[in-house]
Amino acid sequence: NTFAEIDLGEALNLNIMRCKYVKPTPVQRHAIPISLAGRDLMACAQTGSGKTAAFCFPIISGILRGQPVQRPPRGVRTVYPLALVLSPTRELSMQIHEEARKFAYQTGVKVVVAYGGAPINHQVSLQLLESRCCIAYNEISYLSMALRDLEKGVDILVATPGRLVDLLERARVSLQMIRYLALDEADRMLDMGFEPQIRKIVEQMDMPPPGVRQTMLFSATFPKEIQRLASDFLSRYIFLAV
Ligand code: AMP
Repeated sequence: NTFAEIDLGEALNLNIMRCKYVKPTPVQRHAIPISLAGRDLMACAQTGSGKTAAFCFPIISGILRGQPVQRPPRGVRTVYPLALVLSPTRELSMQIHEEARKFAYQTGVKVVVAYGGAPINHQVSLQLLESRCCIAYNEISYLSMALRDLEKGVDILVATPGRLVDLLERARVSLQMIRYLALDEADRMLDMGFEPQIRKIVEQMDMPPPGVRQTMLFSATFPKEIQRLASDFLSRYIFLAV
């Protein structure tokens, strides 16, 4: 009933203590052992349920315990993350990144975030030229921030779908070494129209050489579209509703 009883490894357990987490929340209590056992997972989880840790802990623990991977040397333009977290918005991506960095503190696991600018409908509705320039400027700085951070190497990439497609098209990121995929707030991503981007992203992970990918899908609701996504992306998954 405490994190110390779950076998997450010493370094991660120390960081969990630093975050002052003692008891796992219900979603963590069930999701973490399922993921540590290597199973795909579809979890019903609301905002505030502790789902960030539920997918971050198994990813960090898995990376720390996994076989060392042979990646192209640094300085090469393309980076090869081992884990990908997709989230619908800039704000949520920033939040996940911040938490994941605390969990990965001093473990050597590098976490990078890449997000897009203001939502498109917001950009369209803006009338003032001045504001448009401001948004265009933000857009450029978000991209260059991500490019600069990626250059230092990345193990866990947290990204919004649109920005990631952009980085894939620029050949700055390759998904061929992805071992862990977490889709956060999947229902919101679909509501925002990200399904084509998500499908494009996951397709790239299925290119040869085939990786052994473990996938976790988190959603607050389970309409038909989410069930279809789960049956397309997950294999022999466990369904969790807490
Ligand atoms: P999340 O649903 O992942 O956004 O988490 C909601 C909030 O609960 C965040 O502020 C977390 O830092 C916090 N939190 C998550 N898990 C725990 C835990 N096991 N113990 C205490 N706080 C937690």
